[in-house]
Amino acid sequence: MTVPKSGESTYEARIRRAALLSARHSFAREFLDFYKHLVPFQKTQGAKLARAKDLHAGPLAAMEFRKHLNLTLLLPDFRGFLSVLEQHAPPALAGSAHQIARLPSESWISSLEAYWQHAGKYDQQVGAFAQFIPRAFLEPYAEFCGARIQRPPVVGAPRLCPLCGSRPLLGVLRPEGDGGKRFLLCSFCGQEWEFRRLLCPTCGEEAENKLPVYTAEQLPHIRVESCDTCKFYLRTIDLTKDGNAVPLVDDLAAIPLTLWAHEQGYSRLQPNLLGT
Ligand SMILES: [Zn+2]
Ligand SMILES: [Zn+2]
Repeated sequence: MTVPKSGESTYEARIRRAALLSARHSFAREFLDFYKHLVPFQKTQGAKLARAKDLHAGPLAAMEFRKHLNLTLLLPDFRGFLSVLEQHAPPALAGSAHQIARLPSESWISSLEAYWQHAGKYDQQVGAFAQFIPRAFLEPYAEFCGARIQRPPVVGAPRLCPLCGSRPLLGVLRPEGDGGKRFLLCSFCGQEWEFRRLLCPTCGEEAENKLPVYTAEQLPHIRVESCDTCKFYLRTIDLTKDGNAVPLVDDLAAIPLTLWAHEQGYSRLQPNLLGT
């Protein structure tokens, strides 16, 4: 049901895509130039997780996800992560990282544990970078765990991730036959599940005339799939239009679409790493 998302090549693809989109879109350059420094850290962390023998006891059961936060393994890398942010992040985020670096490790632990318990369930768009630090730090671990969860058979069209119960971050249209099949990408564990194309993942609306789709000329492969019943929208990366897109990265570059959707009165169900 999903395309596995872990391993070094995934991170390499993200770095390459961020470099390309940064050169192409000046509106996304500041963040993507920082992102190119963040992903190598995540790649090293991903490789370390893949090597950690005690994590390979077998597949995880679906929905047991949040019981597995191995801070003994992860915490030694947290200070290094904060220094990447201090050196390369946009000023406000670098400032937050600098302040957090001076706090005792108990405070780091409680922030990471709180994020792990609630991520993808009750997130609100409370402001730029609001969740960035725990989310970016734990993303490789969440994706690593997500790739190890036993796949339950998918029944119907679940609006929450069948593996971890989180909300979708994005839609992904993958080529199939003459068209594309839509998947939802989990905002927490990074796995995908199949989802009908004409169905609002927020409220379940199925009437085509209530589900308008918008695209912008500068980002033709990114669809704003909105719902006039609940006024939420799903951003969907259309791989039938650009097979080189990397959904997680292309979403981060789509800043003008966030502003446009907001002006039209549509909200996003789940914010991305930027908090938008
Ligand atoms: Zn998930
Ligand atoms: Zn809806």
